[in-house]
This record gives sequence, C-alpha cells and structure tokens, in this order.
Amino acid sequence: MTELQAETRQRLDELESKFEELAGHFLGYPTNQDFDYSALLPFLSYNVNNVGDPFHDSNFATNTHDIERHVIRRFSNLLHLPSEEAWGYVTNGGTEGNMYGMFLARELFPDGIVYFSEDTHYSILKITRVLRTRNIMIKSQGSGEIDYDDLRESIRINRDVPVIFMANIGTTMKGAVDDVARVREIFDDLAITQHYIHGDAALSGMILPFVDDPQPHTFADGFDSMSISGHKLIGAPIPCGVALTRNEYVARIARSVEYVGVMDTTLTGSRNGITPLMLWLAWERYGIEGFRDLVAGMLSVAAYAVEQFNGLGIPAWRNKNSATVVFPRPPADIIEKWQLAPYEGIAHLITMGHVTREQIDQLADEVVAARQVARPA
Ligand SMILES: *Cc1c(COP(=O)(O)O)cnc(C)c1O
Repeated sequence: MTELQAETRQRLDELESKFEELAGHFLGYPTNQDFDYSALLPFLSYNVNNVGDPFHDSNFATNTHDIERHVIRRFSNLLHLPSEEAWGYVTNGGTEGNMYGMFLARELFPDGIVYFSEDTHYSILKITRVLRTRNIMIKSQGSGEIDYDDLRESIRINRDVPVIFMANIGTTMKGAVDDVARVREIFDDLAITQHYIHGDAALSGMILPFVDDPQPHTFADGFDSMSISGHKLIGAPIPCGVALTRNEYVARIARSVEYVGVMDTTLTGSRNGITPLMLWLAWERYGIEGFRDLVAGMLSVAAYAVEQFNGLGIPAWRNKNSATVVFPRPPADIIEKWQLAPYEGIAHLITMGHVTREQIDQLADEVVAARQVARPA
C-alpha cells in the first residue's frame, strides 16, 4: 500500500474538522455522540462479514455471529422475550428492523391490513409500498399518540381481515407511545383473533426498560416483533439496530443457501460484522445499571429544558418518559445552527447522552432573542 497523497490527507483533515465543529451543536437528532469504540480499530483490517442467520452455521468464518447472538440475548432479556423463544439479528438501523417485522407479519397473514398512525415514521409507509400490503393510516391525537377511536372504527369495518398493527414506541417527532394494552382491548372487543403487533421502538425501546413507570413495551405486553436502533440511544459511528422476534415465525420464512452454507433468514445477504461488536462493547461497558443512569440523565435534562423554556415564556412540552422536547418552530438560522428537526409549526430537541444543560440554556436564550427581534417593542 502506498502512503496517502498530501491532498488526500488534506481532504480527510478538512472533513474531520467539519465534523468536530458540527458536533458542538447537535440537539435535533436522536443520536448519542458519547461513545468510544477505539478498542475495535484493529478489526477494520479484516474481511468481517456476518452473512446468514447468526443462530446457524456459516462457511464464512471471519464473522462475529457468537457476539451477535450475545447482543440479541441482551436485548431479548431486556424486553422479556424468553431466550428459548427468541430470535433476532443486528440490522442496518430502524428501517430494516421495521421491514423485517412487516415481512414476517405479511408471511403469516398474506391478506392482512397494516394499521399505523399518521405520526408513524416515514419508513413504515415506504415498506407497505415495497411489500405491497393493504394499509390504513389512522388519525393521531395532538400528543402524537394514536387515536384509539379511529383505530377501533377502522378495524371494526374490516373485522374479517387479519390486523397487522405497527405500534409507535416513541414517535420520531413527539416521542409518543401507542398503548398496545388498549389496542389489544380493541382486538378483544371486536373478537379479532388474527393479529400481529410490531413495535417500532427505534429510540424509546432503550428508554422504557429503564424507567420506573413505563408504557407497555415488551414481548410480555403482546408484541410479535420489535425494531430498536443501535446508533440512537447507545450511539455508534455506523448506523445499526436490532430486529427481534419469536423463532417460530422465522422458521416459516427460512431458506438454506448452499453456496455460503447459511440459513437465509435475514433481509440482506452480506451483513456488517463490526456493528454487532460495537453493540456488544456498549453493553459490556454500560450494563443495565449504566443504561439506567444514562436514561435518568437524559430525562432529567429533558425536564430541565421544558422548565427553562416555559420559564422564558416558550411553550415547550414533552410526552411521558420521553427525551423529545417539542416547541414552536424557531427561525431558520437557529434550526441550522443547532441541527434541530423542524416539522410544520413545531421543532424538537432530543436530550441525548451528549446534550448538556449549558447547551439548553444557550438555545433558549437564542430562541427568546429571536422572538424579540421578530416583535420589537
Ligand atoms: C429513527 C427512526 C426510525 C428509522 O431508523 P433508521 O435507523 O433511520 O432506519 C424508525 N422509527 C422511528 C420512530 C425512528 O425515530
């Protein structure tokens, strides 16, 4: 290998400086910057590939399947899915896990109708197009939680058709959680026996297990599959996540592939073998207690943000157990500076592990100052 040329080196240095600069003002997206995977650098020198089912043999030996199984066990224990019933794999992020859940549901109930609220992540509608499933979008309440009356009425009209419900465990914009206990009551009332519940738990799947009074969010609450992101609450330089489900469902879609000697149960063929190492390392470092502290810190900064904003006359609010603070959309320069996520008349900040009270104070001051400019005395 030849040495890097000066201009190549310079290009990389410039990019690094830009990332370093942006990292100081990063409040709008739910990705934790606070991580250290430098122990894994040596593994960038190998052809690591996790092709195939992590719970089966593979002819491709430089894989991290055993580490990946360990990661899946950590998440399935956390979400009350008994080990002997659990199956899952490390994905490229929340979208892949959502697609996996809907794929299993559609294989179980080929004629099912997919229901989801209008606050649902954009990946879900896209996946209904990919999988060509019938779908019905349900109204949301102002909080971002699904409108249960609209859901009941829509299911009632289609009582003869299996229900595939895509539940939000923390909506992207408002951090709202759909109450699957209420959804299951609707199934019972309408005598719906064929149903499947997938949990899109990209961010809050790693918040709710660590709070004192969580909304329903585990397999014991009736979920059939779940998708959780790894690069969000935990934090990672490469997008990743986990898809979790029951192994009996996966057995129905499995095909074996002789060429690589694997079971083909995952959506992609070649798969990242480094991200399972990252999630494993993060779990080793934090453990349950470490994550509990991280979540407690995040929620207390979120509570602080609501209090400070409200104290300055800015009507900010958040949902129960959510690190997502919603407030009126500020001017474009503030959105850009802090990398806030705007949507119509609102914006949000998310108090991920790296977000400090000082940053909240500074943003609040800037929002107030911008108001005074907009409305001079
Ligand atoms: C971020 C997010 C996703 C998608 O995750 P990707 O990793 O970007 O694919 C899905 N659902 C919700 C609620 C999210 O916030």
